[in-house]
Amino acid sequence: MLLIERNGRTGTKILISGGGKCNITHAGTVDDLLRAFAPAESRFLKPSMHRFSNDDVVKLMNDKGISTEIRENGRVFPLYGIAKDVMRVFNGLLENERIRIRLHTRVNGIQVADGAVTGVICEEGVIPATRVVLATGGSSYPKTGTTGDGYRWAASVGHTIVPLRAALAPIQVHPAIPRAWQGIALRGCRLAAVQNGKRLAAWDGDVLFSHEGLSGPCALEISRAAALAHEKAPVAIVADLFPDREFDHLDQTLGRMVQEHRQRVIGTVLDALLPNRIVEMFLEAVHVDPQTRGHVLTREARRAIVRRLKEWPLGQVAHVPIERGEVTAGGIALNEVDPRTMRSRVVAGLYPCGEVLDIAGPIGGYNLQAAFSTGYVAGESAALDQKDELRTKNP
Ligand SMILES: Cc1cc2nc3c(=O)[nH]c(=O)nc-3n(C[C@H](O)[C@H](O)[C@H](O)COP(=O)(O)OP(=O)(O)OC[C@H]3O[C@@H](n4cnc5c(N)ncnc54)[C@H](O)[C@@H]3O)c2cc1C
Repeated sequence: MLLIERNGRTGTKILISGGGKCNITHAGTVDDLLRAFAPAESRFLKPSMHRFSNDDVVKLMNDKGISTEIRENGRVFPLYGIAKDVMRVFNGLLENERIRIRLHTRVNGIQVADGAVTGVICEEGVIPATRVVLATGGSSYPKTGTTGDGYRWAASVGHTIVPLRAALAPIQVHPAIPRAWQGIALRGCRLAAVQNGKRLAAWDGDVLFSHEGLSGPCALEISRAAALAHEKAPVAIVADLFPDREFDHLDQTLGRMVQEHRQRVIGTVLDALLPNRIVEMFLEAVHVDPQTRGHVLTREARRAIVRRLKEWPLGQVAHVPIERGEVTAGGIALNEVDPRTMRSRVVAGLYPCGEVLDIAGPIGGYNLQAAFSTGYVAGESAALDQKDELRTKNP
C-alpha cells in the first residue's frame, strides 16, 4: 500500500487545525454529531460515522498515550493542545501497517480504462493501481497543498462536482470595516445574513473585525449561506449585540444607566456596552452627538441607539474568499458514492473520502471527524475489495 503526498510531510492541515491545537472531534452521540450537518450530508455520513465514530477517534488517541479533553461547546482537543501529537499517532499507524509513503510527489491524475481505475498519474510516470483512495481535501488554504486537484480528476473520470463555494471563511463587506476597528472583538452577539428581509443564517458567539472584514466564529459559520445567496442578490450582515435581551428590556437598561449618570455624556455611558473604539461612529450613525449628557438625551435618541444595538447593519456582503475558508463547500456529488463503502458509483476502484466530497460541517471538530470516518471506511473497503479480488484470481 502506498500513500502519495505532495508536501514534504503528512497531515499539514491537521498540524494547522484549531490554531495548531487540533480540535480533533466533537463530544456527544453520533446522532448529535450528524445533526450538525445539512440533512443530505448527515444521511451520507451516518454509516461511516457509526463505523468509526468520535469515541473511536478519542479511544485511538488515548490508547496511543494522547489524553484528550472536552472543552466548552463540546469541542475535543488533545489535552496539551498539540496537533503534532495527533500526527505522531497517525504516522505511527502508517509505520505499524508498513504503509510506504512517497512525499514531495504531486499526483496529476487518475488513469481509468473500461470504467475502472488502472493507475495514478505522477510526474515521473504512472503508478499502476486498481484501488485508489481519493483524499485530496478541498481547495481552501492552497498553500497547504490543497489546490482542488481531486475535484478535477473526479470530474475527468465522470463524477459530478457540486459547485465549490466558501465555507467557514471570513466575510468581506461593503462598505469596508474601518481600519480603526481592526482587532476589535464583539463578544456574545448574534450575527445574521439577511436577504430581502429574510434571515438566511444566524450564529451566536464572537465576531472579530479584521483586515479581512468580518471574522471569528459567527462570521465563519454564516459564511457558507452568505456566499451562496450573494451569487443571486445582495446579502446584508446584521449584528444583534444583545441577543438574550428583548428590545424593551435593553431600552429600560440603557434608560436606567442614563438616569444614574445624568451628567455623564452618552459616549461614556455606552463604553459599558460597546468596545470604546466603536462608540463614536456607532452614535454618529444614529445621529446622536457622543457629547450629549444623559439628562438631555431624548427618548427617541435612546430608542434609536437600542435599535442599533439590536440590529446593527455591518454592510453588504462583498466577497467570501473560498481560499480563506477552513473547509470547501461543494465537491463530489454524494449520490455518486456509496456511503457504506465509499466506493465510487462511477468508476470501479475509486474511493473518494473527506473534504473532496460535497460535505462541509460547522466549526467544532466536525470536519476532521467527517474526514476520519469517511477515510476509515474508504481505506477499509479498498483493502477488503483488494483481498477479494486476489482471492478470486488465486482461489
Ligand atoms: C486553518 C484551518 C483550521 C482548521 N481547523 C480544524 C479543526 O480544528 N477541526 C476540524 O475538524 N477541522 C478543521 N479544519 C478543517 C479540516 O482540517 C479539514 O476538513 C480536513 O483536514 C480534511 O481532511 P482531508 O483528509 O479530506 O484533506 P486534507 O487534510 O486537506 O488532506 C489532503 C492532502 O492531500 C494532499 N494533496 C492534495 N492534492 C494533491 C496532489 N495533487 N498530489 C499529492 N498530494 C495532494 C494535500 O497536500 C493534503 O496533505 C481546519 C482547516 C483549516 C484550513
